[in-house]
Amino acid sequence: SNDTTSSADSEEQSNEMGSQSPQSDGAQSLETNDNNILNPNGESLDELKKILTDELGEKAFRATQIYRWLHVALCTSFDEMTNISASLREKLKEHFELSCLVKEQLQVSKIDGTAKYLFRLSDGNRIESVLMKYKHGNSVCISSQAGCRMGCKFCASTLDGLARNLLPGEMLDQIYRIQADTGERVDNIVIMGCGEPLDNFDNVTKFLRMISDENGLNISQRNITVSTCGLVPKIRELAELNLQITLAISLHAPNDDIRKTIMPVANKYSIEELLSACEYYFKKTGRRITFEYSLINGVNDSLKEAKELAERIKHINGSHVNLIPINPIKERTFKQGTQEEISEFKKLLEKYKINVTIRREMGRDIQGACGQLRKSYSEQETRTNDEKEEIF
Ligand code: SAH
Repeated sequence: SNDTTSSADSEEQSNEMGSQSPQSDGAQSLETNDNNILNPNGESLDELKKILTDELGEKAFRATQIYRWLHVALCTSFDEMTNISASLREKLKEHFELSCLVKEQLQVSKIDGTAKYLFRLSDGNRIESVLMKYKHGNSVCISSQAGCRMGCKFCASTLDGLARNLLPGEMLDQIYRIQADTGERVDNIVIMGCGEPLDNFDNVTKFLRMISDENGLNISQRNITVSTCGLVPKIRELAELNLQITLAISLHAPNDDIRKTIMPVANKYSIEELLSACEYYFKKTGRRITFEYSLINGVNDSLKEAKELAERIKHINGSHVNLIPINPIKERTFKQGTQEEISEFKKLLEKYKINVTIRREMGRDIQGACGQLRKSYSEQETRTNDEKEEIF
């Protein structure tokens, strides 16, 4: 499981990138690295056309060719672009730095074939992505940030805070490198890896447009799920974009008191405000909401809480609850209830005619909960930035 990609990353770069201020890192209309060299991976076709015509004096159709090499053929170097002349390829190399994710580790489950990738970014940060094989197709879970600043108590991704937002190209490349590595098409995408996608709004929405672009991999938005801990104003902003993605809300509690003990974001937005944003999202997009509910024994998994949850969400149009037996992380004492407790919780929701599924545990024999693989890596290194920002 060695590198499959050639990458221009260098060791010097890995020290340069400290923690970026989350306030200043919104949309990056042009994707650049630290040296301000353009990285074409995250440029939309229109942006690429503009650069090629305005800055390089080339014809617009060249941009379409390059775009297809990058986003359909999944090339990692300009030399693979065989319908482009050698001289133009040299010119492109001068202007662009094609920087791709480097596969650093791959673990494949012997039980179900789930594959967990650890990728290294060009600045040395690491992220995880997971490929899950289902009967209905291949599903990839991608990260939207290196680390996370949401602080949910049960989650490994947030233990060291946020390193930085991922660029659109770095999200696309998680899909591309996995598809190239396996030779199999990715059918579904869930943004449920490290990070809070709506805390990296502009880059994530650009990613959503590019991955579903007919000039690229053309993955239907209906096959993409974005999971959020519930940043209310961003849910409303997303609703305005009228994308056809599925929105999943990490609810994890039937009331604000319990939610506050496990999710700091609950100090900022009440469940009432959150559910009202969900209704707005449905009204605008026609897309049903999925609620995620991680069952933590003795915290949120009693039948009293199941009833309270049902009462609270039953009126929300066609909503669906996905129960996730908590995946224990070694830094916390949270544990799973019994199979019977979990199925009683499910039955109670069903009595209220709520559509419920229990998330099947995938890849039990490889590193468990999200963020654990990345975390185990960062523990082996001395970190320069130990500062963690509290935002709620
Ligand atoms: N930031 C996004 C994506 C996070 S991961 C969000 O909050 O939704 C996707 C889901 O896994 C979320 O519902 C998250 O709360 C849940 N999760 C994280 N760690 C978990 C763990 N150890 N056990 C069970 N679910 C977990």
